[in-house]
Amino acid sequence: MTLGVLQHEPVILGYHAIRETIPAAIPPDEVAPVLTARSFRRQIAFLVRHRYRVVSLETLCETLRTAAPLRRLVAITFDDGDSGIARYAAPVLREHGLPATVFVIVDAIGRSPAWLSWEELQRLRRQGITIGSHSLSHAYLPTVTREQAIEEVRESKRRLEERLQQPVRHFSYPGGGFTPELQTIVRDAGYATALTTNRGQRRRQPDLFALRRVSMGEGSEAPWVLWAKTSGYYHAFRRLPDGA
Ligand SMILES: [Zn+2]
Repeated sequence: MTLGVLQHEPVILGYHAIRETIPAAIPPDEVAPVLTARSFRRQIAFLVRHRYRVVSLETLCETLRTAAPLRRLVAITFDDGDSGIARYAAPVLREHGLPATVFVIVDAIGRSPAWLSWEELQRLRRQGITIGSHSLSHAYLPTVTREQAIEEVRESKRRLEERLQQPVRHFSYPGGGFTPELQTIVRDAGYATALTTNRGQRRRQPDLFALRRVSMGEGSEAPWVLWAKTSGYYHAFRRLPDGA
């Protein structure tokens, strides 16, 4: 199989928590992969050194709509709203003038020092970081009632918009879980895009309400891993049988 027959996809990197060190024991309520500040800094340095164009989700969507070339275009996202994003990731992004999107669990905002506060979200916003919704409670939406799903999607948007005084146009499915019905609920709520994890089908045109991401974890900073992950063919590589 040659690269020519594989489909090039938009490259959206998916981060979660950023910490100074990896905790020896991850607390039971913490399922998200944790990345050290040092690894994050290295991964961003890689993008800068190799002249990737790091763009906002808005710009990426515009590029998809106009069918302009996606080569070397990368968007950076964070899920959940871990406070390490403000402490460790935001300064690195600011240093290089790079945009990103942070998807927050609205009920978790300011709940403890482990989570981003409203003040931190305002500061991130002023830095040019986009704030998106990751639902109210992080419920796995395919398993809740239609009414709860609508509430999670709509009310999280409403509360973010009220506090941040700006439109919230992007949604990230908790756990990456979505169905066609959920995609309609998100679209009808007024979002422009919805992001999943690495789920979803390969399509001729990327689905704006099931945009796939490349998960970035500890160990992803090895150059060959970064090349693969930022190539736009990573999902295709993952589908190849071992050794192919
Ligand atoms: Zn999440």
